[in-house]
Amino acid sequence: MTLAIKGIAVSRGVAMGRTHLLERGRPDIAETCIPHEHLEDEIARLHRAIDIANMQLRQIQEKIPRSTATNIAAFIDTHLLMLNDPALSDAPVEIMRSRSCSAEWALKLQLDSLVRVFDEMNDPYLKTRRDDVIHVVDRILRILTNMNEELPLHDGAQFLQNRIVVADDLTPADIVLLQHQGMIAFITESGGPLSHTAILARSLKLPAIVGIRHAKRYLLNDEDIIIDGDQGIVLSKATAPIKTYYEDKQRSSRQHYSRLNNLKSKPTLSLDNITVQLHANAELPEDMQTLRDTNVDGIGLFRSEYLFMNRDDLPDEEEQFNAYSKIVSAMSGKPVTIRTLDLGADKALKNMQQSECPTNPALGLRAIRLCLKDPGLFMPQLRAILRASAIGPVRLMIPMLSSTEEILQVINIVDNIKMELRRLKIDYDENIPVGGMIEVPAAAITSHLFARHLDFLSIGTNDLIQYTLAIDRIDEDVNYLYKPSHPSVLFLIRKIIEAGENAGIPVAMCGEMAGDPEYTRLLLGLGLREFSMQPNAILEVKNIINHSRISTLESASLDVLQCEHADESLTLIQAINSQQHQ
Ligand code: PEP
Ligand code: MG
Repeated sequence: MTLAIKGIAVSRGVAMGRTHLLERGRPDIAETCIPHEHLEDEIARLHRAIDIANMQLRQIQEKIPRSTATNIAAFIDTHLLMLNDPALSDAPVEIMRSRSCSAEWALKLQLDSLVRVFDEMNDPYLKTRRDDVIHVVDRILRILTNMNEELPLHDGAQFLQNRIVVADDLTPADIVLLQHQGMIAFITESGGPLSHTAILARSLKLPAIVGIRHAKRYLLNDEDIIIDGDQGIVLSKATAPIKTYYEDKQRSSRQHYSRLNNLKSKPTLSLDNITVQLHANAELPEDMQTLRDTNVDGIGLFRSEYLFMNRDDLPDEEEQFNAYSKIVSAMSGKPVTIRTLDLGADKALKNMQQSECPTNPALGLRAIRLCLKDPGLFMPQLRAILRASAIGPVRLMIPMLSSTEEILQVINIVDNIKMELRRLKIDYDENIPVGGMIEVPAAAITSHLFARHLDFLSIGTNDLIQYTLAIDRIDEDVNYLYKPSHPSVLFLIRKIIEAGENAGIPVAMCGEMAGDPEYTRLLLGLGLREFSMQPNAILEVKNIINHSRISTLESASLDVLQCEHADESLTLIQAINSQQHQ
C-alpha cells in the first residue's frame, strides 16, 4: 500500500528516486573539566577546529558552479561570518577560562545562550537565523569530536546520482555539496519556508519538503520514493498508476520548460500586437550572466542594498561606481533601473545601531527616509549612479516614498550633484530618468500628484500589500492574510496605472506579483505594460502575454475590481486565466 506523508512544501517540482538517509545526529558533548595547565592547549584546539571549519566552508564555496545565482554564495558567506564572529570565536574562550571547561562544553554553553536569545525574538525571519547558528556550531563540534565526515565528500563523484536525501536538517552549505554530488531533491525533519535552506532550494530548482517529523523513521534507506514539491507530499511504495501519474507530470513539465526556452529570442507581444516590456530584478552585478541568457528587456529593479550587506564597511563611491558600471555595460544598451538604498527593517546593515532597530522597523527609518537623514550614505551612491549613467541607459529609482516633499528633496540633491559633476567635467546623463517606487498606500492614493514630479512609477507590491493590509510580510502567523487579490490592493494598482497613463509616464511593477503567472492577464487588463520579476519567472509570463488578447482582458479586469473580497476576485481571475487566447 502506498504511504503518503505530508510536510511543508518549500520548493516546487516532482522528483522520483531512491532515498539516501543521512545519519549524522548531533554530536554528544561530555562535560569535561580541563586542568589549568592544559587550558591554553585546549583553547588552541578550539581555534584549530574553527580554522578547519573555515577551510571546509571555503572548499564548499569553491564547488559552487559559476552559473549559480549569487545569493547561494551569500548563504555560505553568512556561515563564514558567523564562524568568525566573536560570539563564536571569543565568547567560548572566555567561558573556558572562567569555568576551566573543555572546548566542546564551552561551545555548547555558548550555543545554548545564543539559542535562548533567538527564541525570545518575535521576528520569525530572525528566528530562522537560529538554525544557522546551530549549523555553524555543529560543524565545529563535529570537528572537535572527530565526527567530521558528516557528508559524503566524494569529490566530483556522482555519489548521490538521482538520490533524494532525507536528513534531520540540512545547511545551505550541505545543499550545495549534495547537489554537486547528484542529489535531485531533499526532505528534512525540521525547518520552515523562510529558512535559508528553503530559499536556496527554490533558487536551485530542487524539489524540497521540510518539517516532516520523524521522516527517517518512516522512510528506509535506498527506497524508491516520489516527492511532490507542489503539494508537500512524499509517497513511498507508490502503486503503478501513481508512478505513471507522476512520470506524466514530470514529462509534461519538462516539455513545457523546453517549449518556453524557444521563447527566449522571441519578442513579448500580445495577440493584438501590443508590446510588453519584461525586465528582471537583480541583486548583485554577478547576476548579469544569468540575465543575458534570458534575453530580458532590461533590469527593472537592481536592489543596490545587497552591495552594502554582510560586510563591516560601506562601499565607497568608487566601489559602487564600478559595480553599477559593470551592470550597465553587461546590459549592452538596455535600461538598468538602480534603486537607491532600501536599507532598514529586515535588511539591516551589520553595524546598524540599536536605535535604528525600532519596535516597528518596517514603519521606521528605512529606505529613502534613512538616505535623506544620512547624506554620508546617500550622496556617494547618487554620484556613483549618475557617473554610471554616462556608460549606458540608467534609471534612478527611489524606494518607500510617502510624500511629494521627499521627491522634491531627492530631485534637489540630484540637481546639485549634477552641477558639481559638470563643474568637475565628469560625464553623466543629463536626462537620467528619476522614478519612484509606489509601495506605501499614501503614495498610491496620491500617485497622480507623484506622477507630476517623476519620470516613471514602479509598483512595489511586496510592501504595498504589507502596508495596505497591515500584514508584516515576514510574519508566518499572518501570512494567510497576504492576498494580492484583495479589492483594496487591486484598486490601488489600477489607480497607480491610471495616474501614469494620465501623466504620460511609464508604470512598471517590480514586486513578486509581477512574476506570478496567476496575475499576468489581470495586470495586462488593468493596463500594466512593464513587468519586472525574478529571472526564473520571465519565460512563463512571456508565454502568457504572447497568448493573450489584451483588448478583451480590459473589461474582464475591470469586473474584477468590482469584487467584494479577495476570494471572489481570485475566482474571477482564474476564470480569465482559463479562457485561452483572449
Ligand atoms: C516591493 O516592495 O515590492 C519591492 C520590490 O521591494 P522589496 O521587495 O525589495 O522591498
Ligand atoms: Mg519594497
